Amino acid sequence: SSFQEFGLADPIARALAEENYVTPTPIQAQTIPLALAGRDVVGIAQTGTGKTASFALPILNRMLESRIKPLPKTCRVLVLSPTRELSGQILDSFNAYGRHMRLSTALAIGGVPMGRQVRSVMPGVEVLVATPGRLLDMVQSNAIKLTQVEFLVLDEADRMLDMGFIHDIRKIVAKLPIKRQTLFFSATMPKDIADLAEQMLRDPARVAV
Ligand code: AMP
Repeated sequence: SSFQEFGLADPIARALAEENYVTPTPIQAQTIPLALAGRDVVGIAQTGTGKTASFALPILNRMLESRIKPLPKTCRVLVLSPTRELSGQILDSFNAYGRHMRLSTALAIGGVPMGRQVRSVMPGVEVLVATPGRLLDMVQSNAIKLTQVEFLVLDEADRMLDMGFIHDIRKIVAKLPIKRQTLFFSATMPKDIADLAEQMLRDPARVAV
């Protein structure tokens, strides 16, 4: 199979060609058509399998279908990830795949002063990549509102639970619109992770690699 079969919008297809992506990885081949069709997806996949593109590409494509300017202090896409490092990599991937669409992105991660992050989301952004603790701090200080989130990604959900983020994640999800698309990825699927996915997703499709 090839990326052309997904019928991705031209700016995304051009960025992929420049990245020398020709053949989708197995997680991408399974996830992208489901996500493009609007389904919630639970994916069991490790780092290095290409899972970042498996959520970033369909979300960018769906966002382009109804491009609106984000309201101040809001985002359309929220990606939760366990660490600063992974958040930075996810942001880099969105910026690479979105390079021909003037995509607005921002990071909300702990361990660095909040001021710059608060200013970066002030005009509103299309994609916000965040670690749960810092995001919740920014929500509680009214720096960001989650009322306009249309797409939610949880990446490495098992690691987020191991790191004790479960309460923060529940508080964040409680502030999101019910009507949204959620893509949930974990390297493992023990019962507590499966239960969390069950509570957060609507009729999810399941994929595993
Ligand atoms: P990830 O598992 O999302 O961290 O991706 C692992 C690495 O594979 C990253 O460097 C990606 O840029 C690269 N990659 C992902 N999908 C593809 C693909 N279909 N073709 C070539 N490289 C890819």
